[in-house]
Formats: sequence, C-alpha cells, structure tokens
Amino acid sequence: MLYTALIIGESAPTREGVAACLKDTALFRRKLYCVDARRAIRWLQGHTIDMICCDWRPENRTEVVQLLAVLRRRTEWMDLPVVLFTAGDDRQLWLEGMELGVCDCLSRTAPEEELQVKLRWHLKNRERIQSLHQSQSKLARMALSDGLTGLFNRAYFDATMQQEVARCVRTGKPLSLLMVDLDHFKRINDTHGHLAGDKVLEKVAEVLTACSRTSDTVCRFGGEEFALILPETPLKSACVVAERIREAINEMHIGFPVTVSIGVGSAKGYKSLLPEHLIAEADAALYEAKRRGRNRSEASLFSQGLMPDLSFFRRFNPAAASA
Ligand code: GH3
Ligand code: MG
Ligand code: MG
Repeated sequence: MLYTALIIGESAPTREGVAACLKDTALFRRKLYCVDARRAIRWLQGHTIDMICCDWRPENRTEVVQLLAVLRRRTEWMDLPVVLFTAGDDRQLWLEGMELGVCDCLSRTAPEEELQVKLRWHLKNRERIQSLHQSQSKLARMALSDGLTGLFNRAYFDATMQQEVARCVRTGKPLSLLMVDLDHFKRINDTHGHLAGDKVLEKVAEVLTACSRTSDTVCRFGGEEFALILPETPLKSACVVAERIREAINEMHIGFPVTVSIGVGSAKGYKSLLPEHLIAEADAALYEAKRRGRNRSEASLFSQGLMPDLSFFRRFNPAAASA
C-alpha cells in the first residue's frame, strides 16, 4: 500500500462505501476524508495526495465542478486523478461525470480486480506525468543557467533585460547594470591552469550572488564576464554595490590574487531606452576602468548626466538613438 487517497462524500456511509472499494485494491497506504470541495482543498494544501475519490450522484454536481475548477488552476494539482464512484452501473451518470473532466467513473460494486487495475493505471499515469514535469523543469533550468557557475546564462540575461528596460520606461524608475570582468584572467589560466581558472569563476559567481539582492539578476555574460541587472536602483546605489563586489573579490582567499574591473550603467526616464543602450554604457565604463589600471569600478558618463543625449549610443545603434 503506497498511495494516499482523499475521499469526498456528503455522508459517512457514502465515504465508507468508497473507502471499502479502495481497501479491497490494497493500493492505498492512507485515506483522508472530507464532506465537500472546500474541505478537500484544505487537505490538499497540507498533504501529499495521490488520488481524489468522490462519491458521485447528480445532487453533488456543483461540488465536483467547483473542485475541478480549483484543481485545474493550480499546476501542482492539475494532473491529480479524480475518480467518481457511483452506487450502481448508471452509464448516463458516468458519462456526465466524464464530461466534467474527471479521469474515471467506477461503480462501487465493480469487481475488486477491475477497481485495482483501473485505479493502479491512473496512479501510474500520474507518476509518469509528474516525472515528465520534473524533467521539463530541469531542462528549462538548464536552458537558462550556466553549467559552470550555476548563474543565469546569456539567454536569460537578454530576456530579463528586455523586461526590465520595458518596466523602467513604463514606470520611470531607475534601472542599473553592472558589467564585471576579471582582470588578467588569461594570465591566471596560463599560470595556474584552466581548472584553477574555473574555480575562480565559481568563487566569483558566489561573491556576486552574496553581494546582490534577491530582486537583482546575476548572470554569466560570457567567458570571464558577468552582468548584474539591478532594478529600481539609481546610479549612486549601483556604484556602491559595484565597489562592494570589487572589494569582496579582492579579498577572496584562494592562494593568488584575483581582481575585477566593473562598469556601471544606469538609466531613468528615457522613453527610447533599449537594452543595447544600457549594455553599451556599462561596457564603455568597464573599458574605462580597465584603461585606468583595473581593480576599480567606473560609472558611465551618460548615467552621470555628462552626456546630454543619446548621441553616445549612435555608434552602437543609429536607428534607436535617432528615435
Ligand atoms: P583583461 O584584464 O583585459 O580583461 O584581460 P583578460 O586576460 O582577463 O582578458 P582576455 O580576454 O585576454 O582573456 C580572457 C580569458 O578568459 C581567456 C579565456 O581562455 C578565459 N576564459 C573564458 N572562459 C573561461 C572558462 O570558462 N574557464 C576558464 N578557465 N577560462 C575561461
Ligand atoms: Mg573579458
Ligand atoms: Mg578579463
């Protein structure tokens, strides 16, 4: 007996009737009981339930309809098998039940073997669906994350930038972007080997995550470059975060020095803002940090108001900048 069934029936004798059918199948480890859809939902919220078995008669049609409506709205309950039990072989009643969207209608007087085979099939089918869901979400996670560091990957970065830039334009709230690049990383690989280089990337990813808020998005932009999207964060605060990150990486203890350079881009109130603008901006600031000697962070001139219009971006996206 492996599974848990939730039995719904208006009266004790109907619930016991359904329970007796289940007992004969020897499939269920545990049985929970309730009188209506509302209480059934309460059980579902606190327990792992593998099948809902409901006494079925025309008078409780509304209960079944309500129950199915709630189940179909919740991903985790959507595929839960709901089986209706009738007192006899009323085929019309079975058809009506199936029309509502339950997975089976059975007679309480059906032979034990028939009940067992059918219920086992529904339970196994649910397990197959659950395992498909699990592999689907694993694949979705893999498609959006970086295999080495576990951070979000470039595809996720691009999609999030689109969303956050749209939000920034709509709400008028600030949006900042940090581009983080390891200094002389090629040298680290050449001196300590690529495996040590990989470890450094993993450690840096940990520091970036630890230094950011849950509302921020930390991504591996590519190679030894990382990007942090900071929603609702003005330039000044983004620069504070950048310095915190730079110092934390500078202070990592991994046997040899590791430093980063960081470019900070920020925007607020630009109606024609595009993700490319912010990326180009943070990128330019990053190259300025490299040019000024590395192990430092720099804010973009545009974000500081030193560039009066979008002319800065013309070389990256002429069409957008002239909009
Ligand atoms: P700079 O300070 O100018 O950024 O110099 P740099 O050496 O960091 O930059 P460069 O672009 O010359 O070299 C980047 C290096 O990053 C070269 C590449 O082999 C290494 N790299 C990229 N991805 C990985 C990775 O996944 N693992 C390891 N170990 N190295 C990587
Ligand atoms: Mg680089
Ligand atoms: Mg580098």
